[in-house]
Parts: sequence; structure tokens; C-alpha cells
Amino acid sequence: MSDLKLVSRQHSNHNTVIRLGDELIGAKELCLIAGPCAVESETQLNEIAKGLSELGVKFMRGGAYKPRTSPYAFQGLKKEGLKMLKNASDTYGLKIVTEVLDTTLIEEVYPYADILQVGSRNAKNYQFLKELGKVDKPILLKRGMSSTINEWLLAAEYILLGGNENVILCERGIRTFDTSVRNTMDIASIPLVKELSHLPVIADPSQGTGKRSLVTPLSLAAIAAGADGLMIEVHNEPEEALSDGFQSMYLNTMGDMVKALRAQAEHSGRTLNLKKEPQIV
Ligand code: PEP
Ligand code: MN
Repeated sequence: MSDLKLVSRQHSNHNTVIRLGDELIGAKELCLIAGPCAVESETQLNEIAKGLSELGVKFMRGGAYKPRTSPYAFQGLKKEGLKMLKNASDTYGLKIVTEVLDTTLIEEVYPYADILQVGSRNAKNYQFLKELGKVDKPILLKRGMSSTINEWLLAAEYILLGGNENVILCERGIRTFDTSVRNTMDIASIPLVKELSHLPVIADPSQGTGKRSLVTPLSLAAIAAGADGLMIEVHNEPEEALSDGFQSMYLNTMGDMVKALRAQAEHSGRTLNLKKEPQIV
């Protein structure tokens, strides 16, 4: 682990706290990023944004550019999707997390994103990571699906070395011999990365398990393990979703999940960062 420099606790023993307006990521409050895997339409996105906003959620995810295994699968609405994200964010007061697929798209995605997501498939795209080091917005860096913890932290090192210190690490499951789940959620990586690095770490149990029924239990486990936040896929009509419907929470049951997360956060000596008066009990 000797090449870990800027990301390491030896370099800075203070937890990095990322500021986005009034919101802090990496401090006592846990950030909850929720939303569809992909932006599919104005109607879909607005319904989800409205529902999330009513639950007090402050950060919405949604892919406009989607990295799909098959070239025949839905690739995202691209620029149109970015505009829909912006409209929903203006209407419902949500901060936007969206994926940037490669270097040529940084400039296009930048104005629409509060946080730029770098996907698992790009966690070893070193030239891209170098370019992200020049960006003055936070980067949410997914763990590569076959990256060791050292490789994941070195990917973050590339971004910090370029000058961007605002990196949020995201555990999203890894490939193992077990095919009964889409990915194996590596819960141990969360406290281990917190030991090794000062950067905030969040968990994505949606990609991490690929199974809706496992998302709440793994979210609770991630908070218990010390995660600084969660990224959760949610859809108004998961059966109709153009990507990842099988792992997306139903919007109309998100309230129960948020309640459970809030209780677990408090149990772990944290709080869940929600709008002051969410319309749930
Ligand atoms: C996603 O968040 O929808 C996604 C594609 O994630 P990952 O890069 O972790 O597979
Ligand atoms: Mn997805």
C-alpha cells in the first residue's frame, strides 16, 4: 500500500468533508442519494423527484449516459436526460449526481451535475481519472468491479494528484465466484477504507446486490459499518424500467426504507441528512 499518498491517513488524519452549498458529505450527517438508474422521461423523473423530495431526500441520482454491457441495451437519453435532471433539480430542490462516461463528455455533463459519478467500468481508466483531477466539482468514484481496495484507492489518488481533493468513494460490490447475487457487496471494505483513507465512503447496495429485497438490509449493514452515505436506485414503476428495475426500490415504499435508515443512523451515532420537514412520520 506504499503508493497511497494523498488519499492516505498518513497524509491527512482529518476526515475530508465535502461541501456542496449548505450540504456536507463526510461529516456526522449521512448523505442519501436516491433516484432511478437511468433518466427515462420527463414524467418518470419528475414523479420520482417529487416523491423523493417529499421524503426529505436532498440528492438525486439518474444516468443520462449509461454504460451498458450490451450495445443494444438502452444507452440513456444523453443531453435530453441532462436537461430533465436540471429541470427536476430546479423544481424540487435536489442536488444532482450523474455519470460522466469519458473525457470527451466532462464538459457537457459538468453544468448539469453537482457531483460527477465515475462508474465501476471506468475505475481503471487512468487518463480519464487524470482529467477528473482538473474538475472543480466532487467526484463520486465507484469501486471497479474487479478492483482490489488498493487499486480503488490508487484510482482516487490519480484524481487527488490532479488537484481535485473532493472524491467520494463508493463501494458497489465486486465480482466473486458466487453468482447467486449480481455482485458481492464487500461490507468489510467500508471500515477498512475508513482506516486507510480520510476520504468519505458511501455504499451502493443496489448495484452491490442486484436484488431489491437485499437493498435495505445491506444499506443498514453499510451504515453500521461506518459508511458516510448511501446511493439507492428507486423507480416509480420498476417493472417498466429501462435498466436495473429488478434492483430498484418502489418509490411508494421508500418511506419505510428512509425510516429504517434514519433509525440505524441514530443507532450508529449519526443522523440522516434529510430536508427539515419531510412528509413522513
Ligand atoms: C449505476 O450506478 O447505475 C451504475 C452503472 O453503476 P456501476 O458503475 O457501479 O455499475
Ligand atoms: Mn444501475
